[in-house]
Amino acid sequence: MPFNEKLIKNNYPLKDLTTFRIGGPADFYYEAETAQDIVDAVNHAKSKNIPYFIIGGGSNLVISDKGIAGLVIHNCIKNIKKVDTNNKTITLSTGHKLSELVDMAEHEGFTGAEPFAGIPGSLGGAICGNAGAYGKSISDILLEAEILLSNGVVKIVNKDFFDFSYRSSILKREPHIVLSATFALKQGNREAISQEIEEIKATRKTKHPGKEIGCAGSFFKNLPPEPGESRRRAAGEVLEKIGAKGMHFGGAFVYEKHANFIINKGDAKASDVKSLAKILINKVKEGYGVELEEEVRYVGRWD
Ligand SMILES: Cc1cc2nc3c(=O)[nH]c(=O)nc-3n(C[C@H](O)[C@H](O)[C@H](O)COP(=O)(O)OP(=O)(O)OC[C@H]3O[C@@H](n4cnc5c(N)ncnc54)[C@H](O)[C@@H]3O)c2cc1C
Repeated sequence: MPFNEKLIKNNYPLKDLTTFRIGGPADFYYEAETAQDIVDAVNHAKSKNIPYFIIGGGSNLVISDKGIAGLVIHNCIKNIKKVDTNNKTITLSTGHKLSELVDMAEHEGFTGAEPFAGIPGSLGGAICGNAGAYGKSISDILLEAEILLSNGVVKIVNKDFFDFSYRSSILKREPHIVLSATFALKQGNREAISQEIEEIKATRKTKHPGKEIGCAGSFFKNLPPEPGESRRRAAGEVLEKIGAKGMHFGGAFVYEKHANFIINKGDAKASDVKSLAKILINKVKEGYGVELEEEVRYVGRWD
């Protein structure tokens, strides 16, 4: 089907597309159901000389109260869903949730995706931010992906293309869009896999706010390891030491059960979140001489 410009909505509210439930509207908004829709939408934005931004599950974003300029493309592509039992790979469109990859791997008895159980969001967002938990990141299982490069070319790239590092990839610097991705797993024991997934989900429930509470996961990246240590220092520990728990600015609060979560108590503005984050960064810098860096992404108009 040719690209239908009439499906673009003007001044579209975005806050309910985010887990923080904060933020203003998109100037223009389009829901992409296929990879071709994404290609067409990007070409449309380029032809009108307006910026474009791809949103997945909205679980790692703080969208400005003034909204996002240009075209927001919502990645709803779910038409590819393939298992290769010989090679133990799973290929999915990136509009699928990360949890669908975990479920499919569990169903097939493939091991490797268990640490990602309970992480919200789409596969596209997971690749962009190299999402992970329990010492594993999506880069550990990504084999290759189909990508729309910022120059308009669609091609298959292998994982090296992404230049992955802790909670980061080239996608945070360049506006390429991942369309589908193939993950390489290993044959495992289905019962053991299911048990691990259940345990991880149960542990996460005790630490993380439930879906009814607006937040975007860990707000800050963990800190680099201390000299002689190999593991990163939890940002939450340092935040707890400066007395962050319970601190607030407007409607944005530090979660009482985990100091590295900023939550929306209902009426928080994006500016409240940013102001609270700034206070926390300054306090940690004063107390510990280290600079916290946001894991969440601020997007939209901030001046
Ligand atoms: C309760 C809670 C717990 C969380 N726990 C974890 C955790 O344990 N570990 C962890 O790593 N994260 C965690 N997160 C953060 C979040 O779930 C992850 O960062 C997730 O991978 C973001 O995916 P998304 O689809 O929601 O991305 P979005 O928030 O929609 O977007 C994030 C970035 O990805 C880009 N993007 C989205 N799709 C594509 C695409 N197809 N191609 C290119 N770029 C794209 C966007 O442009 C944006 O820059 C948590 C969040 C919440 C709310």
